[in-house]
Amino acid sequence: MNTRTPLIAGNWKMHKTIPEALETAARLVELSGDLFDVEVVIAPPFPALAAVSDTVKKTHISVGAQNLHWEKQGAFTGETSADMIVSAGCRHVIIGHSERRQFFGDDDNGVNQKVKAAIAANLIPIFCIGETEAERDADQTFSVLDKQVENGLKDLVSEDLENLVVAYEPVWAIGTGKTATSQQAQEVHAFLRGRLKKYVGNAFADSVRILYGGSVKPENISELMSMPDIDGALVGGASLDAETFGKIINYKKQM
Ligand code: PEP
Repeated sequence: MNTRTPLIAGNWKMHKTIPEALETAARLVELSGDLFDVEVVIAPPFPALAAVSDTVKKTHISVGAQNLHWEKQGAFTGETSADMIVSAGCRHVIIGHSERRQFFGDDDNGVNQKVKAAIAANLIPIFCIGETEAERDADQTFSVLDKQVENGLKDLVSEDLENLVVAYEPVWAIGTGKTATSQQAQEVHAFLRGRLKKYVGNAFADSVRILYGGSVKPENISELMSMPDIDGALVGGASLDAETFGKIINYKKQM
């Protein structure tokens, strides 16, 4: 039986000032008050991390950053290190999001360095992978994902990856309103678990949480979560409104 605790993460991207972030976080604290069997992570923009961490302290909600730099410190204008993120109260960090790959040049090698830096700082990496529409149309979905997993987790062994979370986010489904069907997502998640068995080992592959991301909303979360290899969701647009995200994290109440 699947004993993995579901995890639902909200990626706020470049949205919300500090007061707006605090208001949303405070409402989410109310909406998650009786939620004991789903882990919830919110990833506000950098300026709001410390204040939001304070707001959700001693609640069911954890805070994540949306990116990091792999160096510990130095002359890297505009960048943020793992230790800085930890000191802002974060437990998680999103790495390799498709928008970082698409607009900011993050490649598998950089993603691999970021995963290593996160692990060294005891942060939980939410490691994102996904194929573009053109790659799916060209029947390359599995080969693209295989390469992203192999390169992104290069040199890492199961002890390093104990806390890793994988997020499968088909690029064509992010922010487009197009969701992979639950069967399409399940097929990929099962494939990924198989590849993780090969690269990292059976025990790790059985316990690692694989989240689905791509236009998740209150209307489709329950069906996605009913799939055996879908262990949670990474939510963009629908995480910005507390009431909507509140429905997503409370999906078990709809079931
Ligand atoms: C995301 O950015 O990770 C994402 C899945 O966005 P959306 O939910 O808006 O598609």
